Amino acid sequence: MGPMLLGHGFSGGWIEVITGPMFSGKSEELIRRVTRAVIAQQKVQVFKHAIDDRYAKLAVASHAGRTLEAELVASAGELLARLNKETQVVAVDEAQFLDAEVVAVVERLADSGRRVIVAGLDMDFRGEPFGAMPELITRAEVVEKLTAICRCGQAATRTQRLIHGRPAHYDDPTVFVGAAESYEPRCRSCHVVLRGLREAPLFLEQGAEVRG
Ligand SMILES: [Zn+2]
Repeated sequence: MGPMLLGHGFSGGWIEVITGPMFSGKSEELIRRVTRAVIAQQKVQVFKHAIDDRYAKLAVASHAGRTLEAELVASAGELLARLNKETQVVAVDEAQFLDAEVVAVVERLADSGRRVIVAGLDMDFRGEPFGAMPELITRAEVVEKLTAICRCGQAATRTQRLIHGRPAHYDDPTVFVGAAESYEPRCRSCHVVLRGLREAPLFLEQGAEVRG
């Protein structure tokens, strides 16, 4: 694993972050990079947070349908505990869901000479920094911020959250279990976050369980 192979100009360990809104192809890009590392016969481990079971357990899946086997972890500490000594490349998908300790863990992995590829949402549905992603972006050697396409045709940098077809309220919890929600990529001007008073808390209305 030399700088020639990656083209970034680093040797030893380093951190790469792939970020952007939903539908911007982050997982697809992570899969692409991991696939190349596997072809180059490097020892790779792929992790993702256990909360993300949209497509399949034990797999990193892109919206385009490509999958990669992954180990589900509930915390950054568990990720470190599951690390094999001989692993050269560590990939982490949906890193925004991991606890704050992920920063120290990722730094430690890079300091030990490993290549660390981290993918995750930079912003939550409110358009605010998501979990430890801002700090990971700051500490990374390389950051790739991807965009999706907004319904207006512009590049989308944000994730629009819709609950029962309506824009989510600022005070809605980040994770809703059981609510009929959907997401769309939006540009800055098309992104809507409801604020202020509303008729009733939607999650109580719907009887959905609040998980975070
Ligand atoms: Zn737009």
